Amino acid sequence: MVTAPAESDLRRGNYSLADIISIDDLQNLQDSFAKANRVASTIINLDGSPITSFSNYSAVCALVRQTEKGNANCARSGRILGELSLQGQQPACHFCHSIGFMDAAAPIVIDGVHLANWLIGQNCIGTVDAERVAAYAEEIGANKRQLLAAFDSMEKISEKEFRDKLDFLWLMANQISNQAYQHLRYQTMLVSLEQSKEELTVYKDKLEELVNQRTAELEKAIEKIQQISITDALTGCFNRGGINSNLPREIKRARRYNNPLSILLFDLDHFKKINDTYGHQSGDTVLQQVVATIQPLVRDGVDWLARYGGEEFLLVMPLTSRAEGRFVAERLRQAIADISLACVEEQVSITASFGITGIDSWEGIDTISHETLLQSADNYLYRAKKGGRNQVVSGPLVINSQD
Ligand code: GH3
Ligand code: MG
Ligand code: MG
Repeated sequence: MVTAPAESDLRRGNYSLADIISIDDLQNLQDSFAKANRVASTIINLDGSPITSFSNYSAVCALVRQTEKGNANCARSGRILGELSLQGQQPACHFCHSIGFMDAAAPIVIDGVHLANWLIGQNCIGTVDAERVAAYAEEIGANKRQLLAAFDSMEKISEKEFRDKLDFLWLMANQISNQAYQHLRYQTMLVSLEQSKEELTVYKDKLEELVNQRTAELEKAIEKIQQISITDALTGCFNRGGINSNLPREIKRARRYNNPLSILLFDLDHFKKINDTYGHQSGDTVLQQVVATIQPLVRDGVDWLARYGGEEFLLVMPLTSRAEGRFVAERLRQAIADISLACVEEQVSITASFGITGIDSWEGIDTISHETLLQSADNYLYRAKKGGRNQVVSGPLVINSQD
């Protein structure tokens, strides 16, 4: 089982052979290769430590290694081959410094990195004969008879044959390792891509949340601006814009349900005098006081007040007949007349004149414009002024021919 190294480690070459290919697979491969090619074989790290265990170990070499001298010679020979193999990224071979068999090291190079050496050898390629074996047995103190018997049953091959096996091994080892490496690289890239995808999803969610938050804030701000655009800054009631956007709707609703609708316009009497006498600031306070006095006297959420302009106000009363409207107007007139405000050390009182009109029944009326309604109320207000002010004049709606 291969545990994938980090992609950055793969790119930097910080990995071992075991990181990219399973050692069990490698061992099986090595065993099969050694058996098919009748060579001894093992795979080692660059420091000489083993990666796989030996396959097809030669009986002759096993006997040699059993002796102290033979073992020392074999170990020295192994070190020399190891050094040779480090010199280039090519297979290296030599006659061993023990009995004289041929050994070789094929470097495993992946993505330009020399990772391990695949060793093959312990092959007699004709330079060693029975005489040499007998002499070497004597030299290292091995059992001559056993060593000669083992040598006798050994297959002898030519040097060319050995080099062909080595080339094949080298090609195969690097092909397999490179494919394993590419596969692993692909896998680690996939993992990294998957991580990026997850990060992107988190980022996208955050962005969406932020956009939703900003949209909600923006909607709130727009709503506030819209509210401001239809509100009179001084008194807090609707302004002319509020009238234009709400009154046509109110008329339509009354028409649809055949409900009565009354409106009243009132204008403060001799208001100019207040400004002239006590100053504009005091005039403003009077306007605010008038609205504050009236607001609690009308039905909350049903009737609505608007500043028609200057010191003139509009009260819209849905579900209210003209007679009822007149009654309300009287109450408001009285309330305004009762206002007593301290202005520049004087108690100031104020009155207002009211013009009221409305529709008690929609029978025979198709539709009316809000301008007609306002115009009609204004006419009655004019009459109230003319009639001496501080009074309510009510009259039927005079429908314009254009309606
Ligand atoms: P009338 O009884 O005929 O209505 O007399 P009036 O003096 O109330 O009417 P006029 O049209 O002659 O004067 C209205 C005054 O209201 C003049 C204007 O300066 C004042 N006014 C309009 N808007 C404001 C405001 O926002 N604040 C203050 N302080 N005065 C305002
Ligand atoms: Mg006035
Ligand atoms: Mg006026």
